[in-house]
Amino acid sequence: MDKNREQLRELLAREDFSEIFERADTLRREQVGDTIRVRALLEFSNYCRRSCRYCGLNCRNPKLERFRLEPAEIVETALAAREAGYRTIVLQSGEDPYYTPEILGEMVRKIKPSGIAVTLSCGEFSREEYRYFRECGADRYLLKHETSDPNLYAGLHPDSTLEQRVQCQRYIKEAGLETGGGFMIGLPGQTLDTIAGDLLLLREIGCDMAGIGPFLPHPDTPLRDAAHGSAQLTMRAVALARLLLPRANLPATTALGVLDAKEKRSVFSCGANVIMQKVTPQRMKNLYQIYPASFEEVDIPEGRKRVEQEIVSLGRIPE
Ligand code: SAM
Repeated sequence: MDKNREQLRELLAREDFSEIFERADTLRREQVGDTIRVRALLEFSNYCRRSCRYCGLNCRNPKLERFRLEPAEIVETALAAREAGYRTIVLQSGEDPYYTPEILGEMVRKIKPSGIAVTLSCGEFSREEYRYFRECGADRYLLKHETSDPNLYAGLHPDSTLEQRVQCQRYIKEAGLETGGGFMIGLPGQTLDTIAGDLLLLREIGCDMAGIGPFLPHPDTPLRDAAHGSAQLTMRAVALARLLLPRANLPATTALGVLDAKEKRSVFSCGANVIMQKVTPQRMKNLYQIYPASFEEVDIPEGRKRVEQEIVSLGRIPE
């Protein structure tokens, strides 16, 4: 689909979107099939040196109880996830300098021989450091651009710029890592035109994966009184992302499920083909408060079983 920004903005504003949802679903089936790819998500530290104004982990939030898992525990959990049937693990954290590139690389080296693919999602690093992660065996890196509007970006991220963020995504791509990008829907100040720009930026970067989820206000952040993003608009953006990036991995984001469990199921019929299942230890799961949410207690094998059942109930095949 060779849509320009104006066309995308008009499509997003359509009264009836059903035809586009159907086209996205057909394209998803043709291009990536009927499987839903399951990713284990291990959130290993909620320390963060950044002060992103929407995020509960930001370093200016004194209310959050902070935690860190030791590298040995991270490796052990990843191996348990492999044992339970997961084929990819996403290791995610705030930007926590405790985990140097050497420590992260060493963890990847210890996890990889088990045969599980490793995605890192630990924030911004240098060109050499992303290359080093690839050399250590990392397969993918997830770093969302968050918003494609440079002014909005600057207002929300006191210690970074959109240019710097996108440069990191280019380094990731160049390092030979599969590149995961994405953005939030409903950030205060965002318009449909911004979302059109977000979609085009995913394509310009050449994202292999894109996480598109609603913004959810956190009570201990400066955006506490802002409205949450719309589930419907999130689904529209996912469908258009499928049309723009036919072979991409598009998750039904955890944030969409927190906002509306029903919509999280529906997004699989309008372009999505990936689901993330937390394997974070229970206590830490509830401390990884990017946005307010609570997650039920379930061990790693049981979590895997449940996500497979859910996929089958959608008429799809777990992978
Ligand atoms: N530090 C890493 C980074 O910067 O990419 C990974 C962790 S960061 C917490 C993961 C993602 O959480 C961000 O890319 C952002 O899109 C999302 N996020 C943070 N706060 C959010 C909020 N209030 N609502 C929805 N998503 C949020």
